[in-house]
Amino acid sequence: MATLLPRWNLSLRTELIACLLVTSLASTAIVGGLAYQRLTKKFNALVMQESSKNFTADVQKYFKTYGSWAEGQKVEGFRAFSERHRPPPRPDAGGGVLPPPADPRPVGPGLVAQPGNQPPPPSPGGGLHRPPFRFYLFDANYNSLFTLAPYKPGDAIRDEDRARMFPILLDDKVVAYSSPQGEPNYSDLDLGYLSAMRESLVLGTTVGLTLTLLLGLFLGNRLSRSLRNLTGAVQAMGGGALRQQVPVESENEVGVLARAFNRMSDEIARQYEDLRQSHAQIEAMATQMRELSLRDVLTGLHNRRHFDEQCAQFFASAQRYQRPFSVTLCDIDHFKGVNDRFSHATGDEVLRRLGDILKQNMRSSDLVARYGGEEFVVAFPETDLAHAREACEALRLRVEAYPWHEVHPDLRITISMGLSSDTQVGSFHHMLEAADALLYQAKHGGRNQVCSVAADI
Ligand code: GH3
Ligand code: MG
Ligand code: MG
Repeated sequence: MATLLPRWNLSLRTELIACLLVTSLASTAIVGGLAYQRLTKKFNALVMQESSKNFTADVQKYFKTYGSWAEGQKVEGFRAFSERHRPPPRPDAGGGVLPPPADPRPVGPGLVAQPGNQPPPPSPGGGLHRPPFRFYLFDANYNSLFTLAPYKPGDAIRDEDRARMFPILLDDKVVAYSSPQGEPNYSDLDLGYLSAMRESLVLGTTVGLTLTLLLGLFLGNRLSRSLRNLTGAVQAMGGGALRQQVPVESENEVGVLARAFNRMSDEIARQYEDLRQSHAQIEAMATQMRELSLRDVLTGLHNRRHFDEQCAQFFASAQRYQRPFSVTLCDIDHFKGVNDRFSHATGDEVLRRLGDILKQNMRSSDLVARYGGEEFVVAFPETDLAHAREACEALRLRVEAYPWHEVHPDLRITISMGLSSDTQVGSFHHMLEAADALLYQAKHGGRNQVCSVAADI
């Protein structure tokens, strides 16, 4: 059904007003049309009833006065007789709900009924009104007494007309038969009544439609405002602003909907906030875990895994862009002896402090890591051998000059370093192997020194 209806992109308010107007127009047309039809019918019936009554009374009086129709005709025509016996106009006539609209004193052809309360207005036919109805009149043998088409006086009644004749009795004896002819001829007063009725209907319809329009505008505005608020809030939620509140303006379905929406929006916003916080917590924990997995617990430096991953990239980049890159492997001299002479805890403290020295003295672009045991590594991106060697020497001297007596009065710490800057060895792993070999060389050279490829060539 819905698919059969055309799709108009009208606002809810316009649709509501259109519906109200169409409904109102249809109901007014139906009610007004029916009322007009029934009133007109009733009006006609009343006119005819009253007219028939008066006509019958005139005929009875005529027969009573003259004994028979033929005797009466010798003295005066029925029309003149009827005119003569018409009662004077009633001054108060016309009151009541629906007074007889015209004096229904009709009669035969040419004889005219007057509005009971008005003097007859002039008419082109000789000063007489058109009657509300004209009447056929037949004698007791169904022979016409009037000229009224299609009958002339003396014509026998046709079979099709006989059934609708009503008898006119005098002293319980049928003296004539009669029936009204055709539709009523409205008098000016009748037409005035009908016109007033039509005008009332038109006025009622206009007032009804105006009220409907105003009501439609009022209701449409009220309803659509609430729904517009809701639609806007839903769209805002869709845009990410989850906490929305719309005013609850009534307790009807729209009000219930608005209240439910507000609750729902609150709940969604609250749950989203909880979720966001949980997500942030999880993210922070994941970052922490990831960081921890890349750090050495004792020194806080990066661990070997992170160092290897990063340096593989440094190496690849250095090779691709033909940039300098150096790496050094440091080892504490005679560290086993530190543990043995001063304690393992002292050894740990030495490792921690050496870690701090490395952190403080290397550039932020350099990558420092504890490679294992008492071995440390430093990668120098964008640094050639000469500059890297300079940095290594400075580091070595700082370690040597460090106030190790703070840890233990007899403690002395030095480091040996192997430095490689040859990126042509094929891989970072081979660079480290080269650095390790140079470290071995430094150890054998007497320790507390930096050995590099360049120095050995
Ligand atoms: P060299 O000068 O030849 O390097 O001699 P070295 O004694 O330093 O070398 P060696 O490899 O014989 O000894 C390394 C020692 O480092 C052995 C080990 O007990 C110690 N060590 C490794 N890891 C740790 C640690 O985390 N804490 C402590 N306290 N000692 C460690
Ligand atoms: Mg070692
Ligand atoms: Mg050592």
